Amino acid sequence: MKTALVTGGGGFIGSHLVDRLLDDGVQVICVDNFLTGRKENVAHLQSNPRFTLIEADVSQPTEAYLPQSGNIDMIFHLASPASPRGYQEYPIETYSVNSFGTHHLLTLAKSLKAKFLLASTSEVYGDPLEHPQVETYWGNVHTLGIRACYDESKRFGEMAAMVFHREFGVDVRIIRIFNTYGPRMDPKDGRVIPNFVMQALRNKPITVYGNGKQTRSLCYVSDMVEGMLSMMNSQKACGKVYNIGNPDEYTVLDLANIIKKACKSSSQLIFSDLPEDDPSRRKPDVSLARKELHWQPKVTFEEGLPQTIAYFRTLLNP
Ligand code: NAD
Ligand code: UDP
Repeated sequence: MKTALVTGGGGFIGSHLVDRLLDDGVQVICVDNFLTGRKENVAHLQSNPRFTLIEADVSQPTEAYLPQSGNIDMIFHLASPASPRGYQEYPIETYSVNSFGTHHLLTLAKSLKAKFLLASTSEVYGDPLEHPQVETYWGNVHTLGIRACYDESKRFGEMAAMVFHREFGVDVRIIRIFNTYGPRMDPKDGRVIPNFVMQALRNKPITVYGNGKQTRSLCYVSDMVEGMLSMMNSQKACGKVYNIGNPDEYTVLDLANIIKKACKSSSQLIFSDLPEDDPSRRKPDVSLARKELHWQPKVTFEEGLPQTIAYFRTLLNP
C-alpha cells in the first residue's frame, strides 16, 4: 500500500485531495496546524484506519512531528494560508511555511526518496503583463507589496524544489494552482466566491471591489484534485511546472451577477476600493497539462456553482 503525506490536508483543497487518496486505497498522513483550515473538513475521516491526523506546524523540521520509522512514497505540500485575507493576517507564518517548511519537506523527500508535489500559485505571475499566463512567463510581482509574503515565498519554494531536483535528483513537480472553488471553502476567508455566495444567500450587499472589471478564471475543486494526481502519477512531470486551472474567464462584476441570480437573491451590488496590488487579469494557459498529462477541466462554472451554493447554504444560521 502506498503512503502519502499531505500537508495542509485539513484545508479546502487538501481535504478533497485526502478524500480522493483514501478512495484510491492510499494510506494518508495529514499534517495541519489548522491556522486557516478547519477540523470539520476531516472530521468524517477520523475512524478510517488508513487516515492519520497530526496537528503540527510544518514550518518546523519534520523530526519535530513525524515518526521517524515509517516510509512515505509521496509528499503533497499544500500547507499555507491561501486567501489574501489569510496571508495578510499571517504574513510571517505564510512566508515561513512556504520557505522553511518547503525546505524541510524537500529534505524529507530526499532522504525517503519520496515523490514531491509543491502547491504553488498563479500569484507567482503577480499582476501579469502577459495574458493568458503560460508557464514560461516569469511574472510581474510587487516584491515589497502586501501580497509579497505569499507570492515571493511561493516563488522561493519553486526555486528550492528545482534546486533539490537538480542537486539531489529529488522527483519534484510544481503545480501552479489558479483560483479554485467548491464545497469546504471557508465562508469567512474573504475570497470572492465565499463572500459573494454568503452575501447573496443572506440578501446582504454584494461587495464588488474596484469597478469589478478585473477578471478571474475559476476551477472546480474536483478538477484541481484530478490535476494534482495526474501530476503526481506522471513521470513526465518530474522537474516540471504546470498551470492547473479552468481557463473560463469572468469579470468580478459578472461573478456578482451570476451568483446573485443563482441564489435568487435580492442583494444590491455595492462598490468599494480595489485592494492594493489586486491583479487585473488572470487566466491560465493549460495547453501543457492538456498535452503532457492529458488533463483538462471538466466541470463548468454552471455545474460547480450550484454544488458550492448548496454547501454554503448548510452553513447559514437557522
Ligand atoms: P486552506 O487555507 O483551506 O488550506 C491550507 C491548509 O494549510 C489549512 O488547513 C491550514 O491550516 C494549513 N496550514 C497553514 N500553515 C500551516 C503550517 N505551518 N503547518 C501546517 N498546516 C498549515 O487553503 P486552500 O485554498 O486549500 O489552499 C491549499 C494550497 O493551495 C495552498 O498552498 C495555497 O497556496 C494553494 N493555492 C490555492 C488556491 C485556491 O484558489 N484555493 C490558489 C492558488 C494556490
Ligand atoms: N473581490 C471582490 N469582492 C469581494 C472579494 C473579492 O470584488 O468581496 C475581488 C478581488 O478584488 C479580486 C477577485 O475578487 O479582484 C478575487 O479575489 P480573491 O480574494 O478571491 O482571490 P485572488 O484571486 O485575488 O487571490
